[in-house]
Amino acid sequence: MSDPIKITEKCVFCGMCVKACPFGAITQAQKKTAPVIDLQKCTLCGSCVVACKFDAIWMKEKSSSGIDLASFKDVWVFAEQHEGVIQSITFELLGEGRKLADSLGMKLCAVLLGNNVQARADELIARGADKVYLVDRPELAYFQDESYANVLIELVKKHKPNVFLCGASTIGRSLVSRVAVPVNAGLTADCTGLAIDPVTKNLLQTRPAFGGNIMATIEAPNSRPQMSTVRHKVMKEAEVNPARKGEVCLETIADVLLQCRAKRLKFIPEVETTTNIAEANIIVAGGRGMQTAEHFGMLRELADVIGAGVGASRAAVDSNWIAYSHQVGQTGKTVCPKIYIAVGISGQIQHLAGMQSSDIIVAINKDPDAPIFKVATYGIVGDLFTILPLLTREFKKVLGK
Ligand SMILES: Cc1cc2nc3c(=O)[nH]c(=O)nc-3n(C[C@H](O)[C@H](O)[C@H](O)COP(=O)(O)OP(=O)(O)OC[C@H]3O[C@@H](n4cnc5c(N)ncnc54)[C@H](O)[C@@H]3O)c2cc1C
Repeated sequence: MSDPIKITEKCVFCGMCVKACPFGAITQAQKKTAPVIDLQKCTLCGSCVVACKFDAIWMKEKSSSGIDLASFKDVWVFAEQHEGVIQSITFELLGEGRKLADSLGMKLCAVLLGNNVQARADELIARGADKVYLVDRPELAYFQDESYANVLIELVKKHKPNVFLCGASTIGRSLVSRVAVPVNAGLTADCTGLAIDPVTKNLLQTRPAFGGNIMATIEAPNSRPQMSTVRHKVMKEAEVNPARKGEVCLETIADVLLQCRAKRLKFIPEVETTTNIAEANIIVAGGRGMQTAEHFGMLRELADVIGAGVGASRAAVDSNWIAYSHQVGQTGKTVCPKIYIAVGISGQIQHLAGMQSSDIIVAINKDPDAPIFKVATYGIVGDLFTILPLLTREFKKVLGK
């Protein structure tokens, strides 16, 4: 095996590398003679490479953890499905993954786990995947943390993806953390932006930090795969191209990996959720200004008339006026509807983090200085209990309902 670090013919014997090495691993017998690297002492920290002004030290592309980064190829997307239906977050990841794979000159691959889901592989290819790794087993019919994580760990160890993206959904958040730890991968949760560094080729993972007050860009330069969960509705879905061709790799998995200590008894859909707000084109959201759970009935009436989903601030959810699945914001859902109507919501940063990319924001608030007006496209200053019934009545008239 060749040495992982070498002094090349570009060396001018200046001795800078000898001074730069914190481990005393480089020696120079005399001035103006070639330095020698003691590979027993060298930790491949790269200090000498940085110190050398003549670019005369070559070091194999290795992370400080000793991982051969170059052996990790391709961009993977976890294809989340529920009862055989691919979830829309997957299409958003494929749209973004395509760009990343093209920047890296690598393939875009989807990983699909389920039962009788083989037909769905074509859907993933039509949305941009070059290859689909498919594990089709009755034991994988429904998501289970243990078996799904076991299968993914196995596939990651076998195929070594460079980047691995997963939706920041309930399933995605629970699943990838279980995969990242055993494969020693860096994982960034809740990303809102992804890009490839043109120089290092590392994945740049951007996410809100400190309550949404700053955007942090995180890299995992020493580990692979680079894993991220990505928030729903932040990225655009990949277009459908039924003419696209791709490869489907049917993977065989040992039975033992499909065993789970937990048993799924039944699936109970949340009754409260009429429209999944993450998918809604229009959202009418209420905050503390609504005052009671009963008053949310006014919001639901308006939502029914205009075909909207009902959202809420955390203050309303914490008051038990509406279920958590309706919460919009940093610790709730990120939404990106065409129209977001905020009623009695002040517009704190944690709420804005989940809705400020909406196309049109309408705010109804009695306080003209409420921060929500700073992001609002249209603002109505006044008492919501007067304005809401008026709006509902007018929409009914206009829409003939
Ligand atoms: C770590 C962390 C995470 C958080 N995550 C979230 C999150 O995901 N989502 C979220 O929403 N919050 C979140 N919060 C809470 C957030 O900081 C705010 O406390 C919350 O958003 C306030 O909700 P609100 O706007 O409904 O209530 P308030 O701030 O109390 O605002 C109520 C508004 O209603 C108006 N109002 C009152 N009566 C009327 C009326 N009759 N007519 C018209 N207007 C009226 C008032 O003028 C006021 O502006 C988080 C906080 C922390 C610390």
